[in-house]
Amino acid sequence: MRVKHSETTTDKTLQQELSDTQETLKQSLEGKQQLIQKLKKTRREYLAIFDSVPAMIWYRDRSGRILKVNQCAADSVGMSIRSLVGKNYYELFPDGAKRALQQDLEVMETGRPLLGQLRSFTAYNGLKRWALVDRIPLRDENGRITGVMVFAIDITDKKRAEDDLLKAKSQLEQTNRHLKAATEQARLLAEKATRSNQAKSELLASSSHDIRTPMNSIIGFTEILMDTKLDEEQQEYVKTIHQAAKGLLDLINDILDFSRIEAGKLKIEVISCAIAELVQEIRVMMETQARKKGLDFIIQMDDCLPKTFFTDPTRLKQCLINLIGNAIKFTDTGHIALRVRSDNRAEQPCVRFDVEDTGIGISPDKQDIIFKSFAQADISTCRQYGGTGLGLAITRRLAGLLGGDVRLVSEAGQGSTFSLTLPLFVPRTAEHGPTSLGLRPMRRDEDANAACGHILLAEKAFPSQLTLALMMRRFGLDVQLAGTAEQVLECLDEQTFDLIFLDEGLGFEQVKTLVHTIRYQLPEIPLILVADRDDEPARTWRQMGFDECLSRPLSRDQLYTVISHYLPEQTSPARPAVRDSDLSEQDMACVESLLKQLPELAHGAREVLMHSDMDLLARFAELFSEIGQTTGQSTLTEKADAMLNSLREGGSSLQELTLAVDQLCDLCNQIHQTQCAKPKAE
Ligand code: ADP
Repeated sequence: MRVKHSETTTDKTLQQELSDTQETLKQSLEGKQQLIQKLKKTRREYLAIFDSVPAMIWYRDRSGRILKVNQCAADSVGMSIRSLVGKNYYELFPDGAKRALQQDLEVMETGRPLLGQLRSFTAYNGLKRWALVDRIPLRDENGRITGVMVFAIDITDKKRAEDDLLKAKSQLEQTNRHLKAATEQARLLAEKATRSNQAKSELLASSSHDIRTPMNSIIGFTEILMDTKLDEEQQEYVKTIHQAAKGLLDLINDILDFSRIEAGKLKIEVISCAIAELVQEIRVMMETQARKKGLDFIIQMDDCLPKTFFTDPTRLKQCLINLIGNAIKFTDTGHIALRVRSDNRAEQPCVRFDVEDTGIGISPDKQDIIFKSFAQADISTCRQYGGTGLGLAITRRLAGLLGGDVRLVSEAGQGSTFSLTLPLFVPRTAEHGPTSLGLRPMRRDEDANAACGHILLAEKAFPSQLTLALMMRRFGLDVQLAGTAEQVLECLDEQTFDLIFLDEGLGFEQVKTLVHTIRYQLPEIPLILVADRDDEPARTWRQMGFDECLSRPLSRDQLYTVISHYLPEQTSPARPAVRDSDLSEQDMACVESLLKQLPELAHGAREVLMHSDMDLLARFAELFSEIGQTTGQSTLTEKADAMLNSLREGGSSLQELTLAVDQLCDLCNQIHQTQCAKPKAE
């Protein structure tokens, strides 16, 4: 029983063990199946990744046989994975095979990966593409190198973008270089333009001075000549010279002004301007011209005008003289009127100067054009009346610089009104109310000989001194000449004068000292300054104490008007009016006095050369040239001009200059000797 019992127990145990083993096997099988499933899943995932990565992956063995390739790589060569696997890579793609083989071998031999290499390849469609390539050695389970894995990312688009960027950059750099070159060129051009503009301004300034000086002499002397005994034909010639010279001088002045405005070099000086005084000055300058043409000259000033306002009086005067000059020129009968009034209605109060004439008028279609430079209403006007066509262009620009404008109301044949409007800035203390011009009645030409007086004329420059002195003597005035400030003081100590003319050529400081002395000791004597145009503004001189400031060129009429204004009306003639014969004797005396000074001047020029003061030497040359012109010694003028030119051009050696100065000195001595040897006129 016991055996049976034990047999039964053993069976049970065996059964149990079998069942356990079966269970274990089952479990192990299940585990393996799960593992296989997992592995399959992993492989699928790996293949999915392998085929979907945006990179080309090639596995090659040592001989170049393709072991594995992903979809991206197959797509890149336009073949299927199946048709690629097992083929020899180098034979399949002979293009670039040599290089690929070389690098594969390097990786397999060294066992070191080759990373980040930029390679080009030809895609299936024949287009060139770019890839960034990594080569990694392939190893078997024992670590032996069996081939190479190539991992390549197509970077063609990136490369193109980079190339485009590089191209754009280089284009930008090129543009930049061009721009720099253009900027440099522009700078050079601007420099050149500035230099040539400066040269132009300097040339204009220097040549205008050179032209103006002799031109003033020509105008002055022709006026004197006109008063001498001439037959009709000669009178006509002299008149023509006079008109031509005046026209030329006007042109020079206009061109100079215009180019200064254009170059932005014209200085505007806003100061307090006394309206009545300004109008008086204009009357002095323009009334005679109008009356000569038989035109009435009307001045009308609004009672409500302030006494002063802020502007640049010199430029304002220039505008009005231009407008009134035109009005006189283009009017044959009737009147010229200057009407001044203020207008406080507008937001900005203004002062308005209307220049009205009864002349030829301007048709509406020409009213804009005439304000342009060198423009005239029509050719026949130009032929008949002359002119430069610059006056209105200058006037409008000046008005603009003064903050105002010029407008025109006119019709052909109906006269014209040019209105110059300026902002009315009034000093706070300015008094309003009627303004008095305080004018004395003008003397007419026929009264010329009645204007008598004793005049002191202080002038340094010989030709202009001579011109002015001769003009004054012609008016029957007794003129005392002084060439230096000391001489002026000596004359004032010894004699009494009715009027004193000082020329700015004496020198600013000298003139200033003289004015102070005269104003202190002889406050009642009117003081008149004769200045070169464009130099120190009239305001400076007036502030210094001058009653009047005249600028060259000075016409005889202008001079007469001023003298007759300032001379005491009851001045008894200091001496009888000069006869022609006396005058020519006086002329001779003046010419003689000039020539007498030649040797001394020549000596001065030599000394200046010894001190190498070329500026002063040039001044001497100018002086010799002027004396030559005034005294009719043309060789002297020629030699002096030649020396002046070589000094300006600067090309002459000291030796050449010494020779030129020597020749000039010899000539001066010769002229002097010939002059002294001449028998004196009875
Ligand atoms: P111009 O030197 O020729 O007078 P402007 O610039 O002063 O030069 O004048 C230009 C033109 O305008 C003149 O030539 C003339 O045709 C016309 N003009 C100017 N002012 C008047 C005026 N008051 N009456 C008629 N025409 C005028």
